[in-house]
Amino acid sequence: MTTAEIINPSTEEVIATTELASLEQTDAAIADARTAFESWRRVAPGDRARLLRRFAAAVDADLENLASLEVANAGHTIGNARWEAGNVRDVLDYYSGAPERLTGQQIPAPGGVDITFHEPLGVVGVIVPWNFPMPIAGWGFAPALAAGNTVVLKPAEITPLTAIRLGELALEAGIPEGVLTVLPGKGSVVGERFVTHPDVRKVVFTGSTEVGKRIMRGCGDQVKRLTLELGGKNANIVFADADLERAAAEAPGGALDNAGQDCCSRSRVLVERSVLDRFMKLLEPAVKEFRCGDPRDESTAMGPLISAGHRDSVLSYLDDAPVAFRGAAPEGPGYWFAPTVLTPDRDARAFREEVFGPVISVVPFEDEADAIALANDTEYGLSGSIYTRDVGRALRVSRAVEAGNLSVNSHASVRYWTPFGGFKQSGIGRELGPDAPLAFTDTKNVFVSTDA
Ligand code: NAP
Repeated sequence: MTTAEIINPSTEEVIATTELASLEQTDAAIADARTAFESWRRVAPGDRARLLRRFAAAVDADLENLASLEVANAGHTIGNARWEAGNVRDVLDYYSGAPERLTGQQIPAPGGVDITFHEPLGVVGVIVPWNFPMPIAGWGFAPALAAGNTVVLKPAEITPLTAIRLGELALEAGIPEGVLTVLPGKGSVVGERFVTHPDVRKVVFTGSTEVGKRIMRGCGDQVKRLTLELGGKNANIVFADADLERAAAEAPGGALDNAGQDCCSRSRVLVERSVLDRFMKLLEPAVKEFRCGDPRDESTAMGPLISAGHRDSVLSYLDDAPVAFRGAAPEGPGYWFAPTVLTPDRDARAFREEVFGPVISVVPFEDEADAIALANDTEYGLSGSIYTRDVGRALRVSRAVEAGNLSVNSHASVRYWTPFGGFKQSGIGRELGPDAPLAFTDTKNVFVSTDA
């Protein structure tokens, strides 16, 4: 049996040992999920809805425990971790409204009746990264289950604890065995098998663009359905006419939340040159007040990075760009990294690559056209923000930026009832919002002749 030691990134202590699923165990779980699909798809819509609502209630009742597990396993602040567990509950509640509403169409056709059905796909494989273990799991499994599919779910090898608990809660809530199976294990074993196993009819992958491309190539062999949520290098565009105090106060939260380990992190702050000096003066205290420390402390704004290896990777980005200023971080055990603001050139690695750490790059722009060109000069296209008081400009720039999720005078990207996903190499497909269950179905068209 292969096991993995689970480390608390705030203390570097081993907090659990988990069993990693083998190829044989993965195949067995997929076979069970395939069997469970035949009955789950036939559960009456209202009963499936009721079971999902019970699952949501079980998550709600366990919210403090789930949040504590995430604080210990991933170093998330307690406030964020509570929000994340609450998000799983809300996503389940929201999609519990879907089973009775998966209506097809009746389309005029001569000589008969034409109707469409949204048929579930079968077994869906959900592959989750380490940065948001709970929400990303829920965005996959809740709409998939609501649409009548069964799910096998692979958490990241280093952050499996909340996913394991969610699997237990599903069973406690009455979701039948085999309908949602959590398989902690390696990407190269469990994740790859979701791609190659013919009974897994769809893969939902969230993670790096590099692994996403590999999964997309693999799914091509079986024309397997696929949703990809990949990396981001998102721009926060601050125009001279913006409320600069507000823009500077909110920029750290938009970039440094979850220690910058967020695909939506607005790590490129583009500032109109005429207000650059004033913006930097306002940004410095805001970054220094963004407290990095013990994630169990309610007043902490960000915790540690996930691992020593990841900290080394983030540190390497400070080599080729001037450091404008840094905040503070604890010393001693833990993978701490102080919030850092760089003023790089437009071609610096830190400005072009996804750092995935608490590092902000501030770069000036000349005018609206330059801001749009700079924001779009990346293969990513996930999210972005625009700070301006000019409504026309806000809408013009929102339409011009090539990204799936834009916010004006705000950094909010995620609401369970609005669609989320990327343009360009940030992904394919959309999660969340009213249409997500449809992404777990194929449309069937049936024509019934009424000829005598
Ligand atoms: P990753 O290395 O790509 O891993 C993501 C998941 O894929 C993990 O569960 C991993 O398993 C698994 N995996 C690795 N190799 C695999 C393979 N060959 N076949 C199948 N599965 C495989 O990404 P990460 O470093 O964990 O996560 C960070 C990335 O996720 C960032 O780029 C971030 O932007 C992106 N992200 C995107 C979104 C979005 O919604 N667009 C949201 C959050 C994060 P192991 O843990 O065993 O390696």
